[in-house]
Amino acid sequence: MSTKTPALPSICCYCGVGCGVLVEPLPNGDVAVVGNPDYPVNLGALCSKGLNLQYTVNDRSDRLLYPQMRYSKGRPLQRVGWDEALQRTAAVFQTFIAKYGPDSVAFYASGQCLTEEYYVINKLIKGFIGSNNIDTNSRLCMSSAVVGYKMALGEDSVPGCYDDAALADCFLVAGANPAWCHPILWRRVEARKAAHPAAKLIVIDPRATDTCALADLHLQLIPGTDVVLLQALARVLIENGDVDADFLAHHAEGYEAYRALVLARPLAEAAALCGVPEEDIRLAAHYIGSAKAFLSMWTMGLNQSAVGVDKNLCLLNLHLLTGQIGKPGAGPFSLTGQPNAMGGREVGGLSNLLPAHRTLANPAHRAEVQQFWGSGPLAATPGYTATEMFEALEDGRLKAIWILCTNPVTSLPNARQAEAALAKARFVVVQEVSNRSEALAYADVVLPAAGWAEKEGTMTNSERRIGHLARATAPPGEALPDSEIICRFARAMGFPGFDFANAEAIYLEHARLTAGTSIDISGLTYSILKERGSVQWPYRAGQAAPDTARLFTDRQFHTPSKKAVLHAPPAAFRSEAPDDEFPFILTNGRIRDQWHTMTRTGKVSKLNQHSPRAYLEIHPRDAAALGVAEGGLVRVASRRGEVRVAARLSAGIRPGVVFLPIHWGKLLGSDLNRANNLTSDAVDPVSKEPDFKFCAVQVAKYCPP
Ligand code: SF4
Repeated sequence: MSTKTPALPSICCYCGVGCGVLVEPLPNGDVAVVGNPDYPVNLGALCSKGLNLQYTVNDRSDRLLYPQMRYSKGRPLQRVGWDEALQRTAAVFQTFIAKYGPDSVAFYASGQCLTEEYYVINKLIKGFIGSNNIDTNSRLCMSSAVVGYKMALGEDSVPGCYDDAALADCFLVAGANPAWCHPILWRRVEARKAAHPAAKLIVIDPRATDTCALADLHLQLIPGTDVVLLQALARVLIENGDVDADFLAHHAEGYEAYRALVLARPLAEAAALCGVPEEDIRLAAHYIGSAKAFLSMWTMGLNQSAVGVDKNLCLLNLHLLTGQIGKPGAGPFSLTGQPNAMGGREVGGLSNLLPAHRTLANPAHRAEVQQFWGSGPLAATPGYTATEMFEALEDGRLKAIWILCTNPVTSLPNARQAEAALAKARFVVVQEVSNRSEALAYADVVLPAAGWAEKEGTMTNSERRIGHLARATAPPGEALPDSEIICRFARAMGFPGFDFANAEAIYLEHARLTAGTSIDISGLTYSILKERGSVQWPYRAGQAAPDTARLFTDRQFHTPSKKAVLHAPPAAFRSEAPDDEFPFILTNGRIRDQWHTMTRTGKVSKLNQHSPRAYLEIHPRDAAALGVAEGGLVRVASRRGEVRVAARLSAGIRPGVVFLPIHWGKLLGSDLNRANNLTSDAVDPVSKEPDFKFCAVQVAKYCPP
């Protein structure tokens, strides 16, 4: 008889595609991981990152094993027990709250937290501490999309599903490189193009990425001109009569104002501003206008911008003009970067949100949540967003910050300012899996957390698919699941409502709170998830039907008028403009085999082979003018800092634009390879998402002394 433990279904913890995996517990406590052939997202396939998941679990050499505490600033961290760590933290939080009010403390979390973890943090700070000071690194990647969806559709909801990739006959990929960053979803686009060669792919990107290899048309725009380009596409659609008059008449509002706006700018002027040939804009509009099913995908190139919301609105407008939404193969489809950014949105885990897509500004919604939680009144004002938290730490408004599951010193814009803010903070708690977060250097209390495969919970992927993650192995040392740490802390603070028996109990409370809302999952239990593998929300109590694959199929939107709204933002420029001193535009992004700040993928030698070091991608013409050869060292400087890396010459990048990968930070060598030494503090005024994709830099050949 075999003693082998059966493999347990789980979800890959990297990107928002959310591939299913099977995790086999091994007798020595390690795990083996393979793709789940029955999971509808990936049918067993995994990309390079997913294929190497087990190494990140089985290599425990960097793990934090027990709580640690610094008895005063400047003294070394010392090992303590859980009770002492949490009681001291509770005492410090209580002191600050009593003296300076609830807004003197904050939680900074992650789109990699499980939904259950997000839920209890949100409940703790909003319900019981009485502040909305919770934000996450999801603010850095998709908050512009959240605002865009809400403004245009009345709801932060991705309308379509991955199956639409097999039905579309025109794809628009804007500001995204899914061939590298969402590879398993990208295979569906490749398959569609192979099976249906007439299907067109348009890519909008200042760089010729691997995604462009499949493109019929690459619109290589000047960074920051997306709004002008998207409005020019709208102009040609209108001029050609390729709009859905019935949809615009009965299911949308705002058309006349948008029409007037886009017709006001001559196409030649728009083409010159974007650096894209006029005939290419016409051809792209023709592809979109003649498509039976038009599907767009986008990520950071649109979202991470000082005009990120406007870019989102203009892309959504293409779908509203053409009525390409809520039907098979069609729709706007924002790709989430992180595995559970969607789950975080569902529990209201940002400083301006409430659970289940309720509205913070609505007193009735706040009262509903307060009553459900049995808490005190919920604060009506939004809390600090990600970058605001660190500004508030630096100027002393915020006294204490609790950082979990994210590495802000490498991932926030203007990294040196983030470091300065943490150095000034009165009290820093870092809840982490490994010793690879640079934030640990500033921690007064370190709490060891269980990692992926060591805890149970759920995540929601980019197509609203909720999947269950099994606990396949025990965490090392005294590490605990994040939700248990938060609940223990809440109890130490004396708050009721945090005595959950397990992750499922947290999930069920979250699901009950969604009842009657647009994202109602009150009928979805762990047993249904385990039996069916995954479910796309909504899933109401009593619902026996299969997944809700598409939203808005009845063309009823969630605005007061039930109509979608075409907004007409003028083309604004709010980024740091290049000048004589800083003449290049710096953009940044991910590379194929790394994830965020490399705290996990950086441990896997196979993944490091793809690109062992940070580099600056630069056009050969610019490199020649600077006297820089392939592999030669360059110094890149902005008004905030510098990096020194090797040059990688590429004719695929626009002259005048340079690119740095985002992954490298201090722990992986010198901090002179950290892209965020350079990035600017600008944010979108509405979404507060940083302008990562645009800052002015100078580049020079670097000769080490
Ligand atoms: Fe994981 Fe994303 Fe790769 Fe799928 S595509 S295996 S979710 S990193």
